[in-house]
Amino acid sequence: MKLYNTLTREKEEFKPIKEGEVSIYSCGPTVYNYAHIGNMRTYIFMDLLRRVLIYNGYKLKHVMNITDVGHLVSDADEGEDKLVKAAMEEKKSPWEIAEYYTKVFFNDIEALNIGRPEIIAKATDHIGEMIDFVKGLEEKGYGYETSDGIYFDVMKFKGYGKLSRIDLEDLMPGARIEVNQEKRHPADFALWKKAPKEHIMQWPSPWGMGYPGWHIECSAMGRKYLGDEFDIHTGGVDHIPIHHENEIAQTEALLGKPSAQRWLHGEFLLVDNGKMSKSLGNVYTISDLKAKGYEPLAFRYMCLNAHYRNKLNFTWEVLASAQVALDRLKAGALAHKLGNQKVDNETVEKFKREFDEAINDDLNIPMSMSVVWNIIRYPDKSPQLFDLLVKMDSILGLNLGDVKEEKDDEIELSPEIKALIEERQKARKEKNWKAADEIRDRLKAMGIILEDTPQGVKVRKE
Ligand code: AMP
Ligand code: ZN
Repeated sequence: MKLYNTLTREKEEFKPIKEGEVSIYSCGPTVYNYAHIGNMRTYIFMDLLRRVLIYNGYKLKHVMNITDVGHLVSDADEGEDKLVKAAMEEKKSPWEIAEYYTKVFFNDIEALNIGRPEIIAKATDHIGEMIDFVKGLEEKGYGYETSDGIYFDVMKFKGYGKLSRIDLEDLMPGARIEVNQEKRHPADFALWKKAPKEHIMQWPSPWGMGYPGWHIECSAMGRKYLGDEFDIHTGGVDHIPIHHENEIAQTEALLGKPSAQRWLHGEFLLVDNGKMSKSLGNVYTISDLKAKGYEPLAFRYMCLNAHYRNKLNFTWEVLASAQVALDRLKAGALAHKLGNQKVDNETVEKFKREFDEAINDDLNIPMSMSVVWNIIRYPDKSPQLFDLLVKMDSILGLNLGDVKEEKDDEIELSPEIKALIEERQKARKEKNWKAADEIRDRLKAMGIILEDTPQGVKVRKE
């Protein structure tokens, strides 16, 4: 099995430290708001990695953190804590904010069939470990105190910049306007922040009351659960230049050796070919997709069609086609399930071999999907091929094993589609033909055909 390592910029043969077991650390969500579909793409990538490893017979020890303190508005340690800011805005405590958004996050990942990491580590449950980590760095001369916190001295750490391949020289003082004049180098980052009295989240420490820096959270929790060395670290590409660079610096400075053996990063999801932003009103969540009648798994299907190291562009049209394709895929799987033709073992083996080659080549899921479609289109319909599809679905996570025959008058509709049909009925009653037609077109784009008959509306799948 080959995986691309951001550190070496190469696809490498994967071999875990401990035979048969893989240790993974994934940067998890900062729970101050609803996770958007971009975040979800990164967790789908994390899930595909999990599933491919399990398919290859590995046992997993996978840690994901929940950041509920310390992630400041700017990644460069400036501005307010994101959770504290959200708490003020929503007039709740940061703990209530964290609890609520963590719950929604887990509901979303469940709806997307994203496997839950074996260990979920909340930052606020590990303040002691973080303080010990910072103390260790200070003792080794990597930390220094300023009026507002303890900072990491990047110039002391020889390998700084090796993940993103940036040169510290390029970030020399004067290269950009530095807000914090006490820092020795603009790239120095907070290990611990001193809290003003009114700051809501704070803990006692050798440096007075305060709270941890965002980066130290991952270093400390990773070490606690996975030890000094572990196999894989994952996250989104935006984390390469600051968050992960800083994690490497802290951990290697303390331990004197690399901790994560390889770094895997998922590329971004774009919306309408650009960055999602509140001002453009295009920061969509899984609930937004559901409200428009799409299954969360249609979004998952959409993500399977792009390699995790390539950008993927979201538009409503692309999602609508993904929903249609997913329905067709299920119908194709059902045809094999109900089929009674025989397929020779060689053909089955050949499909499996092609699929395995694709997934083991740095998770080439789009390639594996083309094998899946070849099986769907295979003219002989056979339960042997259905069994193979179900096996492949242990990676795809599209519930292909659950497909069942639907009688015309009892086709299964998602609650969202049912709601849309009702909405259209209401519009028709109110003689709002324009709205009714719009809803019908929207349903059509999802593969649901409505026919108005004298007996009422008839619903069928395309
Ligand atoms: P955050 O909650 O902001 O720490 O982000 C959670 C995860 O989502 C991180 O691994 C980010 O790298 C990732 N992420 C953020 N925006 C996007 C995006 N547009 N596409 C893909 N991943 C993203
Ligand atoms: Zn992290």
